Amino acid sequence: MQTPGTPWRVAYEATISDWHWASTYIYFSYSSTGPVKFDIYYDPNDDDAGHAAITCYGSTTTKVDVSSNTFHDPGSNNIRRAYAGHETGHSQSINHIAQEEGIVLMGFNPNPGIYYIPQLTDTSLVNQVYPYQRKDTMRKEIPWSIFDLFLILLILFLGAGLSSCYKEPIGKQIETTSTIESKTYTYSSYITAFSLQELAGRSDSIVQAKMTQFGEVFNSARDINEASKPDPRLFAVGQIYEFELQRSITNVFESFPSDSFLVVQSEGHIPINPGAEISEEDIRIAKAQDDHIPFEPGSEYILFLRKSITSSGIEPHFTGVAHPWRFLVYQGCIYPETPWEDAQYYFPVRPLDEFLAQIEKALASDSPIPTAGWPIPTLMPTSSRCAPYPHGPQPLPLSGTPYP
Ligand SMILES: [Zn+2]
Repeated sequence: MQTPGTPWRVAYEATISDWHWASTYIYFSYSSTGPVKFDIYYDPNDDDAGHAAITCYGSTTTKVDVSSNTFHDPGSNNIRRAYAGHETGHSQSINHIAQEEGIVLMGFNPNPGIYYIPQLTDTSLVNQVYPYQRKDTMRKEIPWSIFDLFLILLILFLGAGLSSCYKEPIGKQIETTSTIESKTYTYSSYITAFSLQELAGRSDSIVQAKMTQFGEVFNSARDINEASKPDPRLFAVGQIYEFELQRSITNVFESFPSDSFLVVQSEGHIPINPGAEISEEDIRIAKAQDDHIPFEPGSEYILFLRKSITSSGIEPHFTGVAHPWRFLVYQGCIYPETPWEDAQYYFPVRPLDEFLAQIEKALASDSPIPTAGWPIPTLMPTSSRCAPYPHGPQPLPLSGTPYP
């Protein structure tokens, strides 16, 4: 990101300009002391395209880290700009917008060819979090341009002296506390698949397997210039899980799956301070702030896997292809496990035998992998053959319009 002209730098420059000129009261400017940092990282084990973390002191934003995972580089300037714009939306305390809202930067992308700038719904949410307070000519007073003035960090300036810190946009309940404390909220931006065909098409192996034990944690973020080394600036919590194979549904490797194999899931991010060690407590806090779902020892899953890049000192392992890449098998039914709430529209709970037959059909199909999730399928009622999800309530289907 430090080098002008690189694709991600260009994308962030474009999107910061998009948000700067959007109809909101947030303006962007460069500063060596600003609270917001835009960056990229490379993590082949991360099933997310990017993250944002906002640290608040009371209701004031004190620090924002925005980053994109270049492993999921979409290979198109416009889509890269949309990804960067999406993360920049999170930096303004905006959470994801429900699928039903259609084309929004903070939602999913029904057609990657038709948008890459903030939409009306996006900007109206920003205006709820940072409401209009006074008329001035702020927009004109802040010079906008000249990216090479500041080479390392791109800094956000919250215009008109406003600052807010909300996990959820107004329209949903906002938690308020009477005592001032520092809190960090994180946003993960999921890479999603909209059909079994797409999941299967992305997979090297599809297996049914039982999680047997937890393995170690390693830094799954790689040095942006050399994938064999860990990232010196970011510790991505790569949690290793050991699995026992029960059924191989499809598999492109002769030597795999063996009876046991490793799966890595990304479970949090910790900025590395030079000279400081990452402690167990740092990892615990990072995991608590992240929205991943841990695997349960003894539970069975259907997993859509790809072989991950082997890092020195780390055994060969697999990782998920896209959300929802893991389905809990419980009492003869499958349950998609993902923090992506809208996954239930595309991957309803269903009997395992039905699911396996659908995977076979998806594998046999030679039609192109669908990439669009629009229109949203009707939410199927859970089969009467299937028990309720055993690990607590599943996200409820959204009804009506949760955002004005
Ligand atoms: Zn996101």
